[in-house]
Amino acid sequence: MHVIAVVFLLFSVLSGFLQLAWSIMRWYLLKRNSGINEIKETGEPSGRKLLNGIAVICGGSIAGLLAARVCHEFFERVVIIEPEGWLNGEDGMRRFSWEQEHKRTRVMQYQSLHGYQAFFYHGLEKLFPDLEEQCRYSGIRLAT
Ligand SMILES: Cc1cc2nc3c(=O)[nH]c(=O)nc-3n(C[C@H](O)[C@H](O)[C@H](O)COP(=O)(O)OP(=O)(O)OC[C@H]3O[C@@H](n4cnc5c(N)ncnc54)[C@H](O)[C@@H]3O)c2cc1C
Repeated sequence: MHVIAVVFLLFSVLSGFLQLAWSIMRWYLLKRNSGINEIKETGEPSGRKLLNGIAVICGGSIAGLLAARVCHEFFERVVIIEPEGWLNGEDGMRRFSWEQEHKRTRVMQYQSLHGYQAFFYHGLEKLFPDLEEQCRYSGIRLAT
């Protein structure tokens, strides 16, 4: 009986220790290798004075547009350099992108169906608080 109690105690201590080690390792790996913790603060005003300068973003596709949105919190001015000038006009702002008259010549996947996963969605909803409404307006389906 005494031996069983000792084994049980050792097992409990070991399993508690392993659980703690796993939690610490998970926290460390998430912090080091992912942006999950940063999402909480994404899009929040930095509270700092805007940097006196221009952030220049090369390319106005998904990465460039999102980089510009983030830089907007930190720089006085943000400029996107994009060779396809029509994107800035009426055709580029259409409610339904598939009704655009112009075609993008440098983004071959522009006509492909795109799906995004939860991590990306959580980042987007922090950057654009009216995301759901805008998606509905432009016929973009959100699945939960
Ligand atoms: C068929 C296909 C399907 C895909 N499906 C998915 C999906 O479902 N989900 C997903 O998450 N990802 C998907 N991807 C991947 C995703 O499309 C790309 O990772 C993403 O579009 C890359 O975005 P980007 O802004 O980095 O580059 P791009 O979208 O390639 O944009 C580059 C931008 O730079 C501009 N540019 C080019 N040359 C210059 C220059 N000299 N100076 C300035 N600007 C310039 C272009 O005009 C363009 O605006 C898919 C890719 C393909 C090919």
